[in-house]
Amino acid sequence: MTLGEVLGAGTALLKAASFPIPQEAQSEPAPALDAALLLASVLKTDRTGLILREAEPVSAGELQQYTRLLERRLQGECVAWILGYKEFWGLSFTVSPEVLVPRPDTETLVEAGLAVIDRLPATEPCTLLDLCTGSGAVAIALKHERPGIEVYASDISPAALAVAKGNGARLLPKPGMYTIESDLFHRITGRFHIITANPPYVPSAVIPTLALEVRREPRLSLDGGADGLDLIRRILVQAKAHLYPGGTLLMEADPGQMQAITELLRNHGYRPITRIPDLSGMPRVITAGFTGSDS
Ligand code: GLN
Repeated sequence: MTLGEVLGAGTALLKAASFPIPQEAQSEPAPALDAALLLASVLKTDRTGLILREAEPVSAGELQQYTRLLERRLQGECVAWILGYKEFWGLSFTVSPEVLVPRPDTETLVEAGLAVIDRLPATEPCTLLDLCTGSGAVAIALKHERPGIEVYASDISPAALAVAKGNGARLLPKPGMYTIESDLFHRITGRFHIITANPPYVPSAVIPTLALEVRREPRLSLDGGADGLDLIRRILVQAKAHLYPGGTLLMEADPGQMQAITELLRNHGYRPITRIPDLSGMPRVITAGFTGSDS
């Protein structure tokens, strides 16, 4: 069989499998992309390489390896886990079952963070704390784009932090970013110009309805309690002791939670408060200015 034929068969196989699509899914299943990424990894090439080598034969051994990967995908394992990495912000992040796989929509948080960094006076050093960092995707993307800022990344999970550390060491020039194992601000001292977070925000009762591959991700990175806002509430209260006046808090959340979060932020004296849409046009990130007043 030629490479093109093998890819066609792999795509057809994944297309025919009926993965349940949950309401909350942030992206549609993409059988052609999944089939191509898996085949490219077997043939140690990329998607462009597949196109160039379309007419070449695939050996029996390679076909067998590919079939094994397709089977894992059919069992509901996500492609990022099978490959061990996920592209985010043009960078290749190592992922493991200990961390949430970085989602394309979370690039909205990076974009919003960059806009805030760029509004700070260039003469002032900028310190940034990324809470619930997981794989380190947000912290590393920001530091990669703006190497002059000082970035701290924290997570409650030592296993997740080890993944973040590894990604930081691989993707950033030294000294890179600093990592801190901490339950939100518990072990954080000092103040920052910017605090970012993609905390768990899925309501507990929604978790069993998520796609199998999402349910296999760490519950710690998804479960935000009864209304999904447990961590967000703690963050916006405690962040006031860790932001400089004029600093900004940026959080990712579900579009349906934006109104409630806006009210919480307003009640805690944050302003201005803005919502930023994700790739599908839904508000996904909320930014809040800390005025320095504690009301
Ligand atoms: N948006 C994520 C999802 O795919 C949830 C991520 C989170 O809770 N931070 O379900």
